[in-house]
Amino acid sequence: MTVTADRPALATTDFDTYLRTIAAFTDDELIPAEPDMVAAGQVPDALVQRMAELGLFGISIPRAYGGLGWTMEQQVLLTYEFTRASCVYRSRFSTVIGLCSQAILDHGTEEQRREMLLAMAAGRRVTSFALTEPEAGSDATNVQTVARRTGDGWVIDGMKRYITNAHWADTLLVFARTDDGGFARTDDGSAEAAEAAEISAFIVDTSLPGVSTRIPDLMNGHAEGPVAEIDLESVAVPADRLLGGTPGTGLKAAMRGINHARLHVAATCVGQATRMLEETTRHVTGRRQFGAPLADLGVVQAELGRCYAELEAGRALALDAARAFDTGAVPRQRISAAKLYCSEMVGRVADRCVQLLGGEGIVGPHPVPRMWRDVRTLRIYEGASAVHERNLGRATVKSVAAEGVLPDSYRVR
Ligand SMILES: Cc1cc2nc3c(=O)[nH]c(=O)nc-3n(C[C@H](O)[C@H](O)[C@H](O)COP(=O)(O)OP(=O)(O)OC[C@H]3O[C@@H](n4cnc5c(N)ncnc54)[C@H](O)[C@@H]3O)c2cc1C
Repeated sequence: MTVTADRPALATTDFDTYLRTIAAFTDDELIPAEPDMVAAGQVPDALVQRMAELGLFGISIPRAYGGLGWTMEQQVLLTYEFTRASCVYRSRFSTVIGLCSQAILDHGTEEQRREMLLAMAAGRRVTSFALTEPEAGSDATNVQTVARRTGDGWVIDGMKRYITNAHWADTLLVFARTDDGGFARTDDGSAEAAEAAEISAFIVDTSLPGVSTRIPDLMNGHAEGPVAEIDLESVAVPADRLLGGTPGTGLKAAMRGINHARLHVAATCVGQATRMLEETTRHVTGRRQFGAPLADLGVVQAELGRCYAELEAGRALALDAARAFDTGAVPRQRISAAKLYCSEMVGRVADRCVQLLGGEGIVGPHPVPRMWRDVRTLRIYEGASAVHERNLGRATVKSVAAEGVLPDSYRVR
C-alpha cells in the first residue's frame, strides 16, 4: 500500500505537544478501533494512513531525512503511550522505525540514506527486516541465504521466515552470505562469531522478479499483524543495493537495528502492561462477589500491587537504558536487560490479569485476553529470554574479569 503523509505542522511541533497528540490518538482512535481491526484481521488502511500523517513512521529518523528525530528517551515515552493500544498497531511501523531505518542510517551510503529514509519516514516505503531463516533463528550467524556476485551486481537465493510486515512491504532488508561458504563457523552465537561470518545486507524491492511472500495459515496471537515467509529465487539486484557498499558488514548493521528495536520492545511491554492493569482494575472494582467488589479482597489488592510494582520497575529500566543510549555508545547489556525483564514482566502481568478476570479472561471480547495472547511473542522475538540471560551472564563474567566491574557499569571511576 502507498500512503502519502502531509505533515508540515509536525516539523515545528515540540515534544510535549507531540506526546499529548499521540496519547489522544491512542485513546480516541487506536483503542476504539481494536474490535474492527480484530474483525478485519488486519490494521485498516485508514489507520495506517493516520499513523503516517501523525509521523509515527518517522519518530526515530533524523529531521534531515524527513523524520521527527526524537531522542531514544522520547521514543520510549511515545511507545509507552501508543502501546496502551494493541501492540499489533505498533508492529505495522516497528520494522521501519527500529530495525531497518537505524541499520540504513548508520551503515548505508549517503545515497541509500537519502533514497530510503525520506520515503520511510513519510510511511511511503514500508520496509521489512529479513534476517531469520529456518536454520538461523536464535543463531543468526547461521544464515543460509546466499548472494553471489555477477558482472554488475548480485543474485540472491534463499528463504526467510517469520518476517514482520513482509507481505505488504515495499522493500526488504535481506541478510545474505557473501563469503561463498568459506568462513569457519563457530556456533556460540557470540559477537565474535557474528563478525567472523561474512554476512551482507541488501536493499531488495519486493516487486523484483523472484521475490514472493506467504502469510502462514495460523498465528497464535498477534494475528492481525502476521509475519510472512519470503522466497528469494535468483533475485538479481544491482551493485548499489548492497548496504554501505562493502560486503561483510551486514551483521553489524543488523545489530544496530536490533539494539534499537529491543528498547522499543521493552517499552511496548510497559505500554501493554499499563493497559491490562488499568482494564483489570476497572473489572475487579465493578465485579461483586460475596457481597462486595473483588477489589476489596486483600489477595486481589496484593495481585494488583505486585503488577504495579513490576510495571514500574520495567518502566524505569527501559527509560534508564534509553537515557544511556542518548549519551553516545549503545549500552547493549542494559538494553538486553530491559528487553529481558520487561518481556517477562508483561507475561506475568498478563497472566495475573486474566486470572482476575475469571471466566471473562477466557470467554468473550474483553481486550485483556487478546493482549495476553499478543504479548506472548515479546519473549521470543528480538532475542528469546534464555538467549538474553545467557548473553548477559557471559558479558558479566567477561567484564568483571577484564575490568573488575559489571558490563555497561554505572559506577563512578
Ligand atoms: C511474531 C514474530 C515476529 C518476528 N519478526 C521478525 C522479523 O521481522 N525479522 C526477522 O528476521 N525475524 C523475526 N522473527 C523471528 C525471531 O527473531 C525468532 O523467532 C527468534 O530469534 C527465535 O528464533 P526461532 O524461532 O528459530 O527459535 P529457536 O532459535 O529455535 O529457539 C527456540 C527456543 O530455544 C531456546 N534457545 C535457543 N537458543 C538458545 C541459547 N543459545 N541458549 C539458551 N536457550 C536457547 C530458547 O528458549 C528459544 O525460545 C519474528 C518472530 C515472531 C514470532
